[in-house]
Amino acid sequence: MDHLSRRTVMAAAAGLGLTGLAGTTHGRSSPRTKHPGPEHDGDAHRGMCVVASVNGLPAVRRARELMATGTDPLDAIVDGVAIIEDDPEDTSVGLGGLPNQDGIVELDASVMYGPTHKSGAVASLRSIKNPARVALLVCRRTDHCLLVGEGALRFARQMGFKEQDLLTEASRRAWQQWRENMSKEDDWLNDDERDEPVGKVLEQPGQPATPGQRARHHDDPGFTTGTVHVSGVTAAGDVASCTSTSGLSWKIPGRVGDSPIIGAGNYCDNAVGAAGCTGRGEAAIVNLSAHTIVSFMEHGMSPSAACLEAMKRVADRTKEKRLRDGKGRPNFDLKMYAVRKDGAWGGASMYAGASMAVADGAGARAVKIPSLFDHPLG
Ligand code: ASP
Repeated sequence: MDHLSRRTVMAAAAGLGLTGLAGTTHGRSSPRTKHPGPEHDGDAHRGMCVVASVNGLPAVRRARELMATGTDPLDAIVDGVAIIEDDPEDTSVGLGGLPNQDGIVELDASVMYGPTHKSGAVASLRSIKNPARVALLVCRRTDHCLLVGEGALRFARQMGFKEQDLLTEASRRAWQQWRENMSKEDDWLNDDERDEPVGKVLEQPGQPATPGQRARHHDDPGFTTGTVHVSGVTAAGDVASCTSTSGLSWKIPGRVGDSPIIGAGNYCDNAVGAAGCTGRGEAAIVNLSAHTIVSFMEHGMSPSAACLEAMKRVADRTKEKRLRDGKGRPNFDLKMYAVRKDGAWGGASMYAGASMAVADGAGARAVKIPSLFDHPLG
């Protein structure tokens, strides 16, 4: 095998009864267990359900309620996603999303609708807080699949969306902190570098500084990621999916992640199911991860097995040294979520400790998901 530890893959395979995975990796079957653990309970579920990244808990609740009253699954999912996009506290999506390196928020989103096998997406969209709603109209009102940048904004205006500043004071401050700490050589001064009289406490707008708060500003916020993905299946077996994000924080303006790329961060097929990803978008793009998950389900894997196998594919194909740790494992995280047409659902993460949101017959809740590696990142 490439650079995955034999122990880790065997553990994942044993937990899932993944004879295919174990067979291709080791040339023999792994032992099956009767019950692979609560992380895989969704594989046994049947009927209507909605899954999401863990920040999408309010979204799955809303979407399932709407679907239960007969609302079209894509309308229901996009409505659920709008709750997260509208939330200024979620710095990974919509209003309050962390901006690009110039301090400007650029959003990506996509939708896909199983019954018509049609998608819609927007990328690098500025000033509109609900990119998933714009993506839905690209899907329903145009012959296209993806609009970007200025064209996406013009389309949104034409469809009646209102422009607004998406930067909140918290996200602006995070950007400023990142910018000031980027280099000692540039003209931006962080707290350590400012030439202030000894003993003077620096004031932040709207936040009187204390020595403790000043210390907090010395932390480099680094690059962060975050996204909401939601996939759902109705009682009749129709599937739909949506992914919405502000993407990688401090990105190069114009950088587009996996979220609006159909097959990468979002995909559905009414004959099989739906899937999506959050985390390092570049990895999901080069591995076409959402499509890969759906394809694995089409070939008989359960949702959590399909996610784990797609995750293994990402790990195996992470070849660049700068993206690998000392043991050859990816030095980034990725999470995958899936529903199958019959209502089975599951997810997986690269590293241990992750959860996802689900609303199925047992209600809306966050649940732990299996991981490819049995320890947390780092
Ligand atoms: N996948 C998103 C992107 O790369 C970010 C994330 O999910 O954290 O744009």
